[in-house]
Amino acid sequence: MSNRKAAAAGASTKSIRRSRGLAHNAKTSSSLPNKIQEKKLLILDLDETLVHVSGSLQESCAHSFPGVNCTYYVYLRPYVHKFLERVSELFDVVIFTASDQDYADQVLDFLDPQAKLIDRRYYCNSGSYDQGTYVKDLRRLGVDLAKSVLVDNCPDNFRLQKDNGIKIQSWYFDQQDEELLVLLPLEVGCCR
Ligand SMILES: [Mg+2]
Repeated sequence: MSNRKAAAAGASTKSIRRSRGLAHNAKTSSSLPNKIQEKKLLILDLDETLVHVSGSLQESCAHSFPGVNCTYYVYLRPYVHKFLERVSELFDVVIFTASDQDYADQVLDFLDPQAKLIDRRYYCNSGSYDQGTYVKDLRRLGVDLAKSVLVDNCPDNFRLQKDNGIKIQSWYFDQQDEELLVLLPLEVGCCR
């Protein structure tokens, strides 16, 4: 079953999306440039942190794009643009997703069509495995750990750098969700 077909079927897409190791894109998946990291880095997970993408159409669908034998429907977490606009003023904002590049770019190009909010994108092939569990090892990004924070709905993803991780509640369809608003003051505090 292909990645997208599985998603459309409602299967757990987390492991499926990350299963396709695409070739590294020099611009998007190499380590950060070798310069002093001046701003703090806010590293954001994508799925169930900023958006939910499903094979089923709901009223709140914001965008859709074709997959293989299916359509992906994109749902935006409430306040996601307000959140990104604010944190992009304070941080260098990076997406680090366990999903593959062709899928993630479809979502991110919709979320940030003018590439003004997100500075860099890392995909599944920038992750690694620790004791059989997928992890987002921030050392692989070449970042200054003292100036980097990862927000992710899955704590396993930051198990190697627990002090750098902030867990956010997984989001699917709840239009009353305010987690990104709740997180904003914390992020503002982190940037100081
Ligand atoms: Mg996630």
